[in-house]
Amino acid sequence: KDMGNPKAFLTIPRQEAGYRPIHDRISDYSEVEQTLNSRDRKLQASRCMDCGVPFCHWACPLGNKQPEFQDAIYKGKWEEAYKILNETNDFPEFTGRICPALCEKSCVLKLSMDSPVTIRENEAAIAEAAFREGYIKPRNIERNGRKVAVIGAGPAGLAAANQLNGKGYTVTVFDKNEAPGGLLRYGIPNFKLHKPIIDRRIRVMEEEGIHFKMNSDVDVRQLPEGFDAYCICTGAPTARDLPVPGRELKGIHPALDMLAQQNRILAGMTFPKEQLVTAKGKKVLVIGGGDTGSDCIGTSNRQGAVSVTQIEIMPQPPVGQNPATPWPQFPIVLKTTSSHEEGCSRLWSLATRKFLGKNGKVCGVEVEQVEWTPGPDSGRPAMKPTGKVEVIEADLVLLAMGFLKPEHPQFAENVFVAGDAASGASLVVRAIASGRKAATDIDSYLNK
Ligand code: FAD
Repeated sequence: KDMGNPKAFLTIPRQEAGYRPIHDRISDYSEVEQTLNSRDRKLQASRCMDCGVPFCHWACPLGNKQPEFQDAIYKGKWEEAYKILNETNDFPEFTGRICPALCEKSCVLKLSMDSPVTIRENEAAIAEAAFREGYIKPRNIERNGRKVAVIGAGPAGLAAANQLNGKGYTVTVFDKNEAPGGLLRYGIPNFKLHKPIIDRRIRVMEEEGIHFKMNSDVDVRQLPEGFDAYCICTGAPTARDLPVPGRELKGIHPALDMLAQQNRILAGMTFPKEQLVTAKGKKVLVIGGGDTGSDCIGTSNRQGAVSVTQIEIMPQPPVGQNPATPWPQFPIVLKTTSSHEEGCSRLWSLATRKFLGKNGKVCGVEVEQVEWTPGPDSGRPAMKPTGKVEVIEADLVLLAMGFLKPEHPQFAENVFVAGDAASGASLVVRAIASGRKAATDIDSYLNK
């Protein structure tokens, strides 16, 4: 490939578009991330060195061809950039916004000078150019006469549907929610992913012939009749609970109770007062340090929490170093997000022992300091209670400790499973990759 400017990284520093100022973004639910102008975006793309061995490509679950699309951006060939990106990724407008960008973590400029190419932001810029300039148009697809049902309209189901539709299958997507998107719509807050971004894509998919049947709760043991194959993309909906004394108190909720409700309110739904899960005027405690926990912090601050505290059972990463736990690096859990910057205190190495209540409502949480000791042969470290107990005041507790791996019945041969439903809770990029793979498998199965 003729790379435009292979030495640009020597003179052009990494420039992120950054977030809107805190005082501005904290008062609304609009996206926090900003964008660069197209000149600066091109300069950022020029930093890609086109390494002989592109680790970014290998690290991406979708196998995105990052060097190729950076080069196209640098040369101002936005349509070509979109074509390259769209070969491997159905929905770059989602991953460009919310992917933890495994590609950037393995970019040679990250490994050598801690300053990777802004691959994720560049991807979002390509997707926005493609919608703006009309490169994304409904395709005319020749039908092959066969029908596939996709159960679940999250990123996995949408990717499977998009791929199967492109191959000529007549696709119906069933989902129990009122609108498609799965956790993109009813989990991830609007300040990370603006929902019209999902609507815009669904419109194209509908115009291409995909049928969406919403408000359809499908019993996967009795799949709808009349389809040649099925793709189960029902996600990993069961949140891990914390069965310690006091769990029955009022004011303790799984994170998604609040996050999904807030997104529905922003979409215009109303809820009776007694059903509202709101942080307004409350001391909020978030238990769990991952993406879901961060999203609870951002949402609580926007709702008007008095204070927000997040506790994590794992230890604090060493100061001044990239977040890393004592066992295989787990940057997703420990990173600092835009929501942390907006205000919260973070406490580490704390295990929750019991919830404390007054008049049936939670008023605090008893936590115990734990110590982590290296496991034998660098295996999983052991957690040791220290007996040091303290109480954290809280009148709203949000449980954000992950999700259980779903179990499925024995399915017939023509039923395939993809996304979080197959792997357990993971990432949008992996859900898209898995949906694409299921579509290929279904196509092979129906043509064997
Ligand atoms: P889902 O998105 O869960 O979609 C499953 C769909 O199936 C849902 O629409 C559901 O209604 C439907 N369904 C379930 N059962 C049935 C049934 N019986 N009948 C009909 N429909 C059914 N990942 C990232 O990469 N970046 C992030 O920033 C990020 N933030 C996150 C924040 C939160 C709060 C959460 C919870 C997750 C986050 N994730 C993030 C993870 C990511 O959202 C998921 O990995 C991804 O959405 C999984 O896609 P999926 O299609 O497999 O399942």
